[in-house]
Amino acid sequence: MEQLMRDFFLFLSKNKTLTKLAKQYGLRFGASRFVAGETIDDAVRVIRQLNEKGLAVTVDYLGEFVDNEREANEMARHCLEAIEAISREKLNSQLSLKMTSMGLDISDDLVMRNMRRILDVAKQRGVFVTIDMEDYSRCQKTLDIFKQLKKEYDNVGTVLQAYLYRTEKDIEDLKSYRPNLRLVKGAYKESPEVAFPEKKDVDENFKKIIKQHLLNGNYTAVATHDDAIIEYTKQLVKEYNIPNSQFEFQMLYGIRPERQIELVREGYTMRVYVPYGTDWYGYFMRRLAERPANVAFVLKGIIRK
Ligand code: FAD
Repeated sequence: MEQLMRDFFLFLSKNKTLTKLAKQYGLRFGASRFVAGETIDDAVRVIRQLNEKGLAVTVDYLGEFVDNEREANEMARHCLEAIEAISREKLNSQLSLKMTSMGLDISDDLVMRNMRRILDVAKQRGVFVTIDMEDYSRCQKTLDIFKQLKKEYDNVGTVLQAYLYRTEKDIEDLKSYRPNLRLVKGAYKESPEVAFPEKKDVDENFKKIIKQHLLNGNYTAVATHDDAIIEYTKQLVKEYNIPNSQFEFQMLYGIRPERQIELVREGYTMRVYVPYGTDWYGYFMRRLAERPANVAFVLKGIIRK
């Protein structure tokens, strides 16, 4: 049943008609629990509230299915606006973005142009930028672009997914770049030819790559809501005397907010991923796919309206 629901919401997340409808009808149906709002001012307000609680942030201007140059340039403009806001408002926030929204499906030249525009300004303003990882078909291209950019900029990082068989090898391949990596379980529907189908194998591989990347001496963001993985990381860093300055925990906005604060109180860096923008529909559907309890929460919200 759980697998059926997951597949259903992942299917809905890719539906272009529903994405357009969602844009027209605003942040309804409980999405505001997971999305800061539609404008940069909404995002600034939420980031400030989180910062006041001791939480660091990475902010993401939502955008999917970008298939023309004008839209990709517009997405880059929104990223620049977010960087300027972080700097102007003195917020403790990084930026996250997706390669497809910068034009990955259009041309390499366009992505590189948009990324350099963003990273130049981000560097000047002291803002770190993380390239989110999307589905498997874009993984190699994303890593190739990341490697190129990492040679030119020190304020860029990316994400690796524990559900992919290839990730252990990717960590070794990237080792010499001394990358700042966010490690996650992985949010897309992938074939068993490329990804572990069983959750327990994903969890085991997650632990393996956390250890591998930390022991390589590289900065590691452990992005999960899973207490077993968080506990594993805490024990590991204790055992190997890894300082708190070499890693952080990350969670999504609206998910386990009390646990986020607890981790701050325990002395860890806790970064919250805060999405905003009008294109919130696909992101929202992936959150519903992850956890049926989120669906119950949203349904209660709709009934109350
Ligand atoms: P799960 O296996 O989903 O959950 C494990 C346990 O966490 C649950 O059993 C439960 O105990 C607890 N839990 C989970 N949700 C809740 C809740 N709502 N309330 C209470 N307890 C809960 N994926 C990508 O593919 N690419 C990316 O670039 C990417 N970036 C991310 C950035 C951040 C900051 C985070 C946190 C996730 C990102 N993800 C990304 C998503 C990630 O891949 C997973 O899909 C998502 O984090 C769910 O996996 P999990 O590790 O939380 O564990």
